[in-house]
Amino acid sequence: MQHFHSIIVGQGIAGTTLAWRLLFGGDSFCVLNRVENSTSSLIAAGLISPITGQRLVKSWRWDEVWPEAQLFYERVSKELGETLLFKKAMVRIFSDQEEVDRFAKRQIPEYLQWMRLPDPPLNPAWFQNTLGSFEMPDAAQLNSRQYILRSRERFESLKAYHEVEHNLHEMLKVEKDGITIPSLGIKADRLFFCEGAEARFNPWFPKLRFNAAKGEVLTLRIPELLEDRMINRGIWLTPHEPTLFRCGSTYEWDQLDSTPTDAGKKQICEKLRGFMNLPFEIVDHQAAVRPVIDAGKPLIGYHPALHCLGFLNGLGSKGSLLAPFFSNQLLENRIDSEIDVARFLK
Ligand SMILES: Cc1cc2nc3c(=O)[nH]c(=O)nc-3n(C[C@H](O)[C@H](O)[C@H](O)COP(=O)(O)OP(=O)(O)OC[C@H]3O[C@@H](n4cnc5c(N)ncnc54)[C@H](O)[C@@H]3O)c2cc1C
Repeated sequence: MQHFHSIIVGQGIAGTTLAWRLLFGGDSFCVLNRVENSTSSLIAAGLISPITGQRLVKSWRWDEVWPEAQLFYERVSKELGETLLFKKAMVRIFSDQEEVDRFAKRQIPEYLQWMRLPDPPLNPAWFQNTLGSFEMPDAAQLNSRQYILRSRERFESLKAYHEVEHNLHEMLKVEKDGITIPSLGIKADRLFFCEGAEARFNPWFPKLRFNAAKGEVLTLRIPELLEDRMINRGIWLTPHEPTLFRCGSTYEWDQLDSTPTDAGKKQICEKLRGFMNLPFEIVDHQAAVRPVIDAGKPLIGYHPALHCLGFLNGLGSKGSLLAPFFSNQLLENRIDSEIDVARFLK
């Protein structure tokens, strides 16, 4: 039996971030992941912005989570010798008069530091900007796919990453003081479930109120568009590679699979044509399921009876921003009661 301090199940943004935290702390760990071509973290745009949503509100706990995210990704980037987090401004184009009115109400010091008029202004040959727009200079984008794949290479080189094919839940022997996986010859003092939306089927953390949402994303070739900022108007459009942009995304709560649909494609294209004037060609189309839990906030912590089982999930649409801060809370075991998974299991 090989003995690790921790096992991590799942290598999306949650599992990857937790694994780096353990590595930085000098703890032995092993990541067990089921490889899928299209997961939430592999297709996510990785957008991070201080003002979000239709209501134009400051992102939840922004002042704590954003500094932590920057420090964390800088450290991982240094380890991997590759920049993963890119500071990029985001321009929000107003969709309707309600947004214009809300923006007017946000002219208060708490918000003003995060917003300004677009500089330079949006090019009218590229974008329709009839109701106006504002820019968030302090926005950023995590290359989440690269973060997952490059981290995986590093964990593999440390012999701390294994692909699993079968249902891992059936292979686990969980006792109060630790976990054994006889078929893999592995034992550990604790195990963290970082399974994304698949945690809906986890027998140790049952009946959590998941509200998982499928999302679709297009990769577009737009040769005439030379914009290097991220643009948002109901959907986002973000520079990807030369002449390529990514655009998304949709929200769908019934068909929870990773199959791209014509309806999803149509919805994104229609919304894009609602604010961009240029012709585009679709070069790729992806879909995956976001792990949203009812309250829209992360859910973390330890099983109330089996303390060796940890849980990091519910990162919703903000995994890149939230994972660094909340993985730290989980490992330091100082979990805010409102997001403590134990509360929902007692
Ligand atoms: C279309 C779309 C756009 C998005 N855009 C953004 C964005 O702009 N900004 C942002 O911050 N976030 C965005 N997100 C959301 C963000 O990516 C998620 O918060 C994040 O991916 C969640 O990561 P996770 O690790 O919890 O789950 P996942 O990415 O789903 O990872 C879970 C991993 O665990 C594995 N797994 C599951 N169960 C098991 C098991 N039993 N055994 C072994 N392995 C298992 C899975 O195969 C997978 O590899 C977007 C998501 C989507 C779908």
